[in-house]
Amino acid sequence: MIFLEMSRIESHGGGTWAFPNCIWSPIEKEGGGRWPFWEKVLSVKEGDTVLHLRGVQPLAYFVGYSRASGDGFTTTKRPPEAGSWSFSPSFYRADLADYTAFHRPISLSAVFSERRVELESYFDKNRTLKDKKHLFYVRQSGRLQCLNGAYLSEVDDELLSALFGEFSFGTGIKEERALVSVETGYQMRSIRARLGQANFSRRVKSLYNNKCCFPSCGVDDSRFLVGAHIARWSDNEKLRGHLGNGLCLCVFHDKAFELGLFTLDEHYNVYINPKELESDSAVVARLSPFAGHPINSASFAPLDDALLEHWIRIDVSP
Ligand SMILES: [Zn+2]
Repeated sequence: MIFLEMSRIESHGGGTWAFPNCIWSPIEKEGGGRWPFWEKVLSVKEGDTVLHLRGVQPLAYFVGYSRASGDGFTTTKRPPEAGSWSFSPSFYRADLADYTAFHRPISLSAVFSERRVELESYFDKNRTLKDKKHLFYVRQSGRLQCLNGAYLSEVDDELLSALFGEFSFGTGIKEERALVSVETGYQMRSIRARLGQANFSRRVKSLYNNKCCFPSCGVDDSRFLVGAHIARWSDNEKLRGHLGNGLCLCVFHDKAFELGLFTLDEHYNVYINPKELESDSAVVARLSPFAGHPINSASFAPLDDALLEHWIRIDVSP
């Protein structure tokens, strides 16, 4: 799941509560009353992606994204600088890790203007749903604007596409309008691709029960796991984001797979690259005893097409 944190205050909490250590909110409004954009913190699950939108319009920017390092929870511990939220007896909080800043922050005004049609249509469609989503923006007096207090909201695939476009690197007419639009369009697609990759990686890892699938490896520490692509992200557009193009590997086995030291045969058994067998590398020595051993399978087997692409790239044919 991808969440959007919209925060206007730079310090927001201070200490270990400050950006980008966690997302947090009071549990209810002053004088009582629930607020869905705060309760949302409890829906955050470990591994989810949080996209950060910071600043006040017209100077609000998507600045980067983080990974939730734990599930959302309620706590009576307090932020050192709770500011306007000091009244609250307790708080919702979800811890974050791996903040990645975008190469260049992307302006919300640019997104509202470039993606207006898509965002309006997403907004209108949501309004007709029985189970409406709480969105961070509204369509008001003919223009799009942020909804006050919409601290944390969900961004599904459709909204992500409405905001940043599709993965495809094809040139849309819209992006060709002017140089500045090409630049913005490219940035948006790259954000979309990065968030898509983070999402893909999380789903692949969970498919393999968050454990390296190399036989007898057993690494299950999420900090050492990668939701790896079999066919490279850049090489095969059709397989992008397809779960059958993913393997959950530890950093060691991911590197060995990426370099082509081993691949998998059509039965998902380890196949050591014959070119490596002569080598006296300790890495190869650690891999070779597992030749012919099956990987720990997931509920979703790797696609033949993806494996074929890997065989071609590393120049072997098991
Ligand atoms: Zn491993």
